[in-house]
Amino acid sequence: MFDSLSDRLSEAFKNFKGQGRLDEKNIQAGMREVRLALLEADVNYKVVKDFVERVKERALGQEVQKSLSPGQQLIKVVNDELTELLGGEQEGLNFTKGKLSKIMMVGLQGAGKTTSSAKIALYLRRKKFKPYLVPADIYRPAAIEQLNVLGKQLDMPVYPSTTEMNPVDICRDALSKAEEAGCDVVLFDTAGRLHIDETLMDELVSIKAACAPDEILFVADAMTGQDAVNVASTFDEKLGITGVVLTKMDGDARGGAALSIKSVTGKAVKFVGMGEKLSELELFYPDRAASRILG
Ligand code: GDP
Repeated sequence: MFDSLSDRLSEAFKNFKGQGRLDEKNIQAGMREVRLALLEADVNYKVVKDFVERVKERALGQEVQKSLSPGQQLIKVVNDELTELLGGEQEGLNFTKGKLSKIMMVGLQGAGKTTSSAKIALYLRRKKFKPYLVPADIYRPAAIEQLNVLGKQLDMPVYPSTTEMNPVDICRDALSKAEEAGCDVVLFDTAGRLHIDETLMDELVSIKAACAPDEILFVADAMTGQDAVNVASTFDEKLGITGVVLTKMDGDARGGAALSIKSVTGKAVKFVGMGEKLSELELFYPDRAASRILG
């Protein structure tokens, strides 16, 4: 995760060794490298521009700290601003206390919705919840089958969806079935498409209206960088997402999606997928991710 960005940044800060103090000239030079490193990592152009401006402003306004070298001082400012960029505080899931909670998983086909639904269900069971899985992608029979297989693997109840049913009816009916089964959190694994289309969005809007989910998690493949951010924006405009799950962070994703998605959409990355196994899901901590980037 973030390996090449991390290498590029440590290269950028190397040049700072031995310099007397932070001034406009050396900040400018250091930040030129940081800017290039972020652009190479596929971070949104405007996000990079604003980020660099904020760091420059804060670094210049800093008191000279005797205990820190100028390089260390600049790294500290970059670290703080990177943490902000990645979302600031860790954000957990929203639940309605004492009532059935509902989590709707949305995103493009192949992003990792079905896998992430099962991963979050496992995460929640470890937190003493009783999850109920709902396959609502009736267009790909394999998707229903896939969630059934995962449900069996986890020994969790799965709604008996079929391709003849209507997805909105499935989700609505699943609410009472989940309660009958003694469950307290429902995960709707909705349909995806290779590209955004109106019919898909209308269907998701109808499911939202019928089920009033506590969370609408946009699942994005981190490997797709800027595209993931653009798609997230569209889903957010149409649907009002409440958070993001970034999958495939175990691959060589450059970091562009993770670093841009919060500033562009205002919605936090809540979880990251770190592998294909159901246990390979982590809560996303912006401060830890920033420290990791800076090595
Ligand atoms: P969906 O079409 O959005 O439901 O996507 P799937 O859940 O079927 O996932 C598509 C592919 O991505 C599958 O082969 C998953 O095993 C894989 N996948 C999902 N999440 C991760 C992850 O965090 N890391 C890796 N390496 N693969 C993942």
